[in-house]
Amino acid sequence: LQSNTPEVFRSTLTSIPQTQSLLNKAKMPLGLMLHPFKDLSQLPVVTSSTIVRCRSCRTYINPFVSFLDQRRWKCNLCHRVNDVPEEFMYNPVSRSYGEPHKRPEVQNATIEFIAPSEYMLRPPQPAAYLFVLDVSHNAVETGYLNVFCQSMLENINALPGDSRTKVGFITFDSTIHFYNLQEGLSQPQMLIVSDIEDIFLPTPDSLLVNLNECKELVQDLLKSLPTLFQKTMETQSALGSALQAAFKLLSPTGGRMTIFQTQLPNLGVGALQSREDPNQRASAKDIQHLSPATDFYKKLALDCSGQQVSVDLFLLSSQYCDLASLGCISRYSAGTVYYYPSYHHQRNPAQVECFQKDLKRYLTRKIGFEAVMRIRCTKGLSIHTFHGNFFVRSTDLLSLPNVNPDAGFAVQMSIEENLDDLQVVSFQAALLYTSSKGERRIRVHTLCLPVVNSLSDIFAGADVQAISGLLACMAVDRSATASLSDARDAMTNAAIDSLTSYRQSVLTIQQPGLLAPACLRLFPLFILALLKQKAFRTGTSTRLDDRVFAMLQLKYQPLVYSLLMIHPALYRVDDLTDEGALNINERTIPQPRVLQLSVEKLSREAAFLMDAGTVMYLWIGRNCHPNFLSQVLGVPSYAAVPDNLYLLPELDTAESQRTRAFIGWLRDQRPFFPPMHVIREESQLKPTFMQNMIEDRTESALSYYEFLLHLQQQISK
Ligand SMILES: [Zn+2]
Repeated sequence: LQSNTPEVFRSTLTSIPQTQSLLNKAKMPLGLMLHPFKDLSQLPVVTSSTIVRCRSCRTYINPFVSFLDQRRWKCNLCHRVNDVPEEFMYNPVSRSYGEPHKRPEVQNATIEFIAPSEYMLRPPQPAAYLFVLDVSHNAVETGYLNVFCQSMLENINALPGDSRTKVGFITFDSTIHFYNLQEGLSQPQMLIVSDIEDIFLPTPDSLLVNLNECKELVQDLLKSLPTLFQKTMETQSALGSALQAAFKLLSPTGGRMTIFQTQLPNLGVGALQSREDPNQRASAKDIQHLSPATDFYKKLALDCSGQQVSVDLFLLSSQYCDLASLGCISRYSAGTVYYYPSYHHQRNPAQVECFQKDLKRYLTRKIGFEAVMRIRCTKGLSIHTFHGNFFVRSTDLLSLPNVNPDAGFAVQMSIEENLDDLQVVSFQAALLYTSSKGERRIRVHTLCLPVVNSLSDIFAGADVQAISGLLACMAVDRSATASLSDARDAMTNAAIDSLTSYRQSVLTIQQPGLLAPACLRLFPLFILALLKQKAFRTGTSTRLDDRVFAMLQLKYQPLVYSLLMIHPALYRVDDLTDEGALNINERTIPQPRVLQLSVEKLSREAAFLMDAGTVMYLWIGRNCHPNFLSQVLGVPSYAAVPDNLYLLPELDTAESQRTRAFIGWLRDQRPFFPPMHVIREESQLKPTFMQNMIEDRTESALSYYEFLLHLQQQISK
């Protein structure tokens, strides 16, 4: 029996309480974390004319159903007994007859079906990509267009799709520019619409064109775009109108809209104002303007969702852009926000590298169109809140115009009916989508967990990482609907309440000190880390867009990446050895120990790598061994380490190879590219690095030890 990996599907409580009152007593949130479209090295794919599902609740047959006999199976979600169809009696893998329990559907907890025609409302849509590019003076100044066009040219044949793939481009400043790319033209034709109040499509049929038939024109356009606007004096940005135009263009097919924006939209519909008060960035009091200033972007996102259009936003800006408002365009259309603060082609090479690598992944990763996801659970359990980027169409149906392999989701559940007679309960996520090759497919993940009726069993099965990830999602919602201080209090209370319950209801002998079950030992540490995370911290200067972006990430990223953002991994790297190393593809990957996030663990004589998920830091001690400086960084002395160093030289030394192998291996573990900054005592980024030392005390925040004392006082009250 092949179970699904915890990265794909996991629960905050691996033992499910029998009743809601038991769950209430435990004071821990019950929920699921999902990464449903993750790239998998092995995925069984089943083609069959009948997909076997429960006649009552529509659950897909799965490894946790029970066969009453050869001809009947009992649904593990609603308990109805179903007939086994004749076709299911034949096993295509073993080519034998009469062993339905050996079918791949009942051997694999993660599986994909090729869906027959009843699973589509219309013929599968072609892959359609529309790129919407800010070309204002500010945008041209950042130099991003060059990187974008270069990346498109390099990856144009790797865009997921087939002979039907469509592509289109819109640029905008104070007006909207369309590009006629119709076959037969000798060069692309720019069409300018200056009446931004009343957007129309100048030639609807030749703006979104077949990529294969018009590839040369598309390539011509990509080669000329970076120079077209070089001398522009346009400072205005009519993003809202550009989005409306793009929506009109993609509506008939659906597809993916990609926005590149470099400043606050300031003209026409959807114009925004600067709401950030720079003096409030370090406020210990409440942070204002975490909610959108207008519902324009949310409404448009819902329109897009209705037409199977997702919107991804690449924000490359050095000024406040009101991401709290802009982000809605992606959030409700199942898109993604990418954020490159202070992006500049010359001044910020680390960001340029990151943007390049992200674009490559973005353009070439797989994609599903016109998707929906439904999460079912055993009768008695009920999902009441969803987290992630999507639109909730009905109580358990998420509308996903696009689904991408880097998106995570979370749900909160309650127990509506007691699970008295049940040994186990199951959860099943089914993702129905159109592949880039025009196939309708259903990816199904099923998770089965035991039911328990004692608090000690519930505590023994707590998954502290999943709990922390879910609490982070809940805190983001709370920050917007109530306030940041409410959200912070709620997280602290989660630790206090659950450990109080443990002390009062589970421990039989009352001892002094802060006591936690083994699996919750790190709970206070994760909560403290969350309180100091960019999303929720107070007292430390945090730009509003930076904070909002961190919140968006916590809601949308798969758990493994969120965990690194919350609690980075710290390694000493100046003494890497082959001892205990991994060997992957004939490369030796050192495996240094993970260190606690405290300055006490640093040493002036050493070098440390901090992996914070989306970014890495290489901290060089002032008295770092000259061997590391010369053999890894290629410099003679500490003083010679350049400012803004972000690339390690490829030196032909064992030390250099080990260090690069380790960093490369870390980067290979995730689909996005974390840039690496080399940090010296004098570095501008030093405070950013130090802020991740979450176990230490700062002017405005408790140390880990103080936090534990605080919890203990509250618990023994
Ligand atoms: Zn059923």
